[in-house]
Amino acid sequence: MNIVLIGAQGSGKGTQSRRLAQALKICYVASGDLFRKEISEQTELGVKAKAFIERGDLVPNDITVPMVLGRVVEADCVGGVLLDGFPRTIVQAQALDNGLQDVARAVNCAVYLMVPRDILLHRLSGRYICKAQQHVYNVNTNPPKVAGRCDIDGSDLYQRPDDRGDAVQKRLDIFFNETIQLLDYYRKHQKLIEVNGNQAIDQVHADLVRAITEKVK
Ligand SMILES: [Zn+2]
Repeated sequence: MNIVLIGAQGSGKGTQSRRLAQALKICYVASGDLFRKEISEQTELGVKAKAFIERGDLVPNDITVPMVLGRVVEADCVGGVLLDGFPRTIVQAQALDNGLQDVARAVNCAVYLMVPRDILLHRLSGRYICKAQQHVYNVNTNPPKVAGRCDIDGSDLYQRPDDRGDAVQKRLDIFFNETIQLLDYYRKHQKLIEVNGNQAIDQVHADLVRAITEKVK
């Protein structure tokens, strides 16, 4: 079973993907993890990718696609894979379809973890970290006991430029713009499942398992 999980930053996608892969006994492949691994091992793809990531640019397809496809055909992924963070665009979705077709496999379904934009903004823009040890808090969903102070080491909390409202808005704009097209692509191929991600973690997990099991019989 090969599944694509689509969700915005702050949607709970990372947590749900890992748990889902375990429940379905398939391999969890996150494009972000692959980038970090290639970069730390200083592979050819890693060196190329690093330059784009450091500039804050999207890594181009001629780097991302071979990296993910190479991983998906490795031995531990033959029984199935859950993809997190890839594909992001129709071009990448087509490349994935072609790559899997070459090894007589296919994407069985694409799951969209739906969380309203205002909720994502609320979750993401509340993120603060401590100066001493980078402990993570969220003033909206997981506040410290004393405002502006780390519970563990008492150091000041601050917000990274990336987590400020306007930066978060910009990231969400990019996500929704590219994702609408990706959802259309999978809808046309009758592979799209939409699950309400704005619920308790356990409920989202149960809904994901049920929806996927019903779709892929
Ligand atoms: Zn701390």
